[in-house]
Order: sequence, then structure tokens, then C-alpha cells
Amino acid sequence: MGKQDDEDEAKSPGQRLAEKLLATKKNRWESAPPEELERVNAFGEEYKVFLNRGKTERECVGAVLESLQALGFQDLEKLMPGPGILTPGSKVYWNNRGKSLVCGITGKSPLSEGVNIIGAHVDAPRIDLKTNPLYEEGELAYLDTHYYGGIKHYQWTAIPLALHGTLIREDGVKQDICLGESEEDPVFTITDLLPHLAREQMQKKAAEFMSGEELNALAGSRPYKDGKVKEKIKLNLLHLLHERYGMVEQDFACAELELVPAFKARDLGFDRSMIGAYGHDDRSCVFAALSAILRLAQEAVPAKTLLGLFIDKEEIGSVGNTGAQSRMLENSVAYLLAKSNDSYSETLLRQCLARSAMLSADVNPAFDPNFDSLYDRKTASYFGKGLVLTKYTGSGGKSGGSDANAEYCAKIRDILNRNAVPWQYGDMGKVDKGGGGTIAKYAANLGMEVLDCGVPVLSMHSPFEVLSKIDLYTAYRGYLAFFREG
Ligand code: MN
Ligand code: MN
Repeated sequence: MGKQDDEDEAKSPGQRLAEKLLATKKNRWESAPPEELERVNAFGEEYKVFLNRGKTERECVGAVLESLQALGFQDLEKLMPGPGILTPGSKVYWNNRGKSLVCGITGKSPLSEGVNIIGAHVDAPRIDLKTNPLYEEGELAYLDTHYYGGIKHYQWTAIPLALHGTLIREDGVKQDICLGESEEDPVFTITDLLPHLAREQMQKKAAEFMSGEELNALAGSRPYKDGKVKEKIKLNLLHLLHERYGMVEQDFACAELELVPAFKARDLGFDRSMIGAYGHDDRSCVFAALSAILRLAQEAVPAKTLLGLFIDKEEIGSVGNTGAQSRMLENSVAYLLAKSNDSYSETLLRQCLARSAMLSADVNPAFDPNFDSLYDRKTASYFGKGLVLTKYTGSGGKSGGSDANAEYCAKIRDILNRNAVPWQYGDMGKVDKGGGGTIAKYAANLGMEVLDCGVPVLSMHSPFEVLSKIDLYTAYRGYLAFFREG
């Protein structure tokens, strides 16, 4: 008898029964084989580079595009029209305005049998500039802003901010801006009141003590030297912007300029088991899904066509022509159909969508012992316990969310269990305390099966979110298994 047998023999009937029946979740740091732990760290290093490279929706899509093109993925729009262009194993992408993107590898089975999709969002909460943002007051110049997504206003004060974005000049030139990322660059900041003067402010509710309108970023203090002009500090800044970017004040109206935290992704903790960074929501899932697609692009042709949907505007309700409520996913599947061997028809498109399966890859609020009264410990997600499956979203009685079918949950559980991918539950806080929505419901509207499934994150929507490296890597393993066997 071996050591394991001895141990089993020593177990009481109750212990054996508990092992058989109870859903206990182990910490993956303890159960992972040594070679996996090495991969976990390497994966974390790659992920930090990806995060630093893509701090806006456009930059993130740019980073995705670069890695796809490096592996020979082709622009679907540039491929010749007509059927027969796509064959099993074709690697393609469809870039929607540089702000969202669908990519995929065509499989052996016909598209009419459905595709496997992983959808994650490239946008993250941030501070957008207004369309006429620059003003001067009290010997200082500011950028006026309108925040994007659900933020706690006060968290975005008194930290270094970088300005990222794109503007279109009157001469038609598209100008990208990225200021505050290199060590030599200047940064911006939203100033807050000193404690000595904050007696009144400190009595206010957190939601009120820094209002949205008060989020003004400090941008300059040095006047343009000319006695004959007014608003000299503002003028001096416009002068600098004109010199550097060729822009004039009106160009702010034709721009998407975003203030994001100026710091880089960092290892967190003595044990370096975590990563602190801006934008884990939801670029951790984008990176995990993309990595799975890149890996599969170097393997044999998949059985079923697989798609990555990297989508914009999730944080403000999936609106607009780059968001999940648009017909972007339908359109890209229609293009795939029209350019594959299937003869295109509306029926075929609807059939393909309705027979498809999706993982809505989005982060989940991890259990935070500092605020334990808000979580149901039985269904909360924990660091180190792997991929989070969130069967239903919504709030106030699941309202406004998505609720995955039991049969589909069973299918995903089966794939994960067979591939030894640790997974855990992940409700969004106690009943009637929290909640939220993802892109899942918009995919479900097309008739496909969809389940929310992602990485646990602490301090979500703050400028410095935290995740566990092993959960990120487990998400990658889970997405890989889904694409292979879904
Ligand atoms: Mn999200
Ligand atoms: Mn979010």
C-alpha cells in the first residue's frame, strides 16, 4: 500500500463522505504544480506590459491588434469579398473604429453550428475632458472634466494623472496624445482641500464631498508674457499645445481626451502574489482571452470557430456603435458567414448566433475582509481560488442582469473540471446590497448561451485595482479550455 492509500485508510467515514459531497475550494497557490507557478509569474510579467501599453480603450485595442498581426491575423474588411475566402484555420479580425474589435480563428465545423465567443471590455472608469475644458482662475489653469463610468470621485484626487487620447485637427490630421507616462513627462492632478480647511467637507457624505463638477485637473500656472492679453496662463497652455500638437482650442470639441492614473502596474505584497494597477476591470479578462486566442493560433485548426469580442463602452451601459448594444457582434458574424463557404442568408446568421456559446469575461468584486458585512461568504469570490463563475447579475431581485441557464452552467463546469481549472462562485455582494451588469444580457438577446466568468478584483473602479496573479492565469487556462472544448 502506498502513502496515499494509508492516508485514505486513516480517514473516518464522515471525512470520506465530506470529501465526496462538499464543494470545498482549495487555494490554487497550494495545489498548483511547480511548472504552473513558473508560468503564473511569467504571465503576470506579460500582463503588466500589456496594461502599461493600453490605458485607454483605443490603446488597448491597439495592443490587441499588434499581437494579432504579429501572428498573421488578417483584416476581415480587406479580404476579398465573396464566399470561399475563409477556410478552416483562417485567422481574422474586424477592427471597429480602433475602439473595439472582434477576432477569431475559423474552425472545422460550419458556422451554422455556432461559434464559441469570449467577450471582455476594453474601457475602464476614468476622467474625460469636457469639450471646452481649458479655463483659468486664481492664477491657475485647469482642465474641466466629466468622469466616465462608476467612480468614487474622491479616489481620483491628489494622485498623478496622465492625459491620453486622440484629437482631430481642423486640417484633418489625427493626433494621438500620451502625456504623463514617461519619467520626463509632466503629469496632472485634481487638487483636494487640506485637512485644516476641510472641517465642513469632512461632514459631507462621501458621494458629495467631491462633486463631479469639482473634478478639475490642474494644468498650468505660468502666464504668457504680454501685457495686452487676458487669460495669459490659458493662452500660454494653448500656445504649448499648438507648438506640440498643432491644435487650437476648438479641437477639444473633436477629441477624446482621457485622464488616467499616471502610475504603472506593479507587483503587490511581500510575496509578489498580486498586481496593483489601473484597469484590471476589464483588461485582465481581455488579456487572458487574447492570450488563449494567440496560443490557439499556433495549434491545430479548432473544431469550432472561436471569437474574441473586445468591446468598448461597457462602463456606461454598452451604448454607442462600439458598445455591446450595437450590432457589432452580429455584423462581424455576418461578415464571417459571407466570406466563408456557407452561402449567406439571414436565417443562417440567426441560426449561427442562436447556436453560439459565450463567456462574458468580466471581473468580480473579490471578498474584502475590511468590509465583510457586505458579502455573502458562501457565494463571494476569493483571491487564489481561481476563475469566478457568476450565474446571474443584476440588482434588486436580479433585475436588469443576465441569468445563465443551468444546462449551460453544467456544460462550463464540466469543461473546467475535466481540465482541472479551479473555479469558484462570485455573487456581486449580499442580496439588495450590491449588484451590477455586464455585456452578458446583450449577447443573450441574440439567443446564445452566456455565462459571466472572470477574475476576482479588489478596489474595483479605483485608480489602483488589485488582482491575484494565479487567478489571472487560471482565467487564461479556463478560457483556453472553453475555446478547445466548448
Ligand atoms: Mn467590468
Ligand atoms: Mn466595471
